[in-house]
Amino acid sequence: MGLIDTITETLQASSSSTNRGDERGESKGAYWCHDCEERRLDLDVEGDEPPACPACGEAMTFERSPGSTGCAC
Ligand SMILES: [Zn+2]
Repeated sequence: MGLIDTITETLQASSSSTNRGDERGESKGAYWCHDCEERRLDLDVEGDEPPACPACGEAMTFERSPGSTGCAC
């Protein structure tokens, strides 16, 4: 019983202290259509299914963000 109480308190403490509204997390990458150079951020896409390109309708491909290197040439 004491152990469960401790865990509950720990969870409540950590969740309340880190509740800053950024629970969506960071973007892990983006979906691309290379033909059209259309891009959609993974955070803007619901679920894990790749979205269709708004320009040509082909399934977009997911690419991980390499980080914040800026240039992807
Ligand atoms: Zn396209």
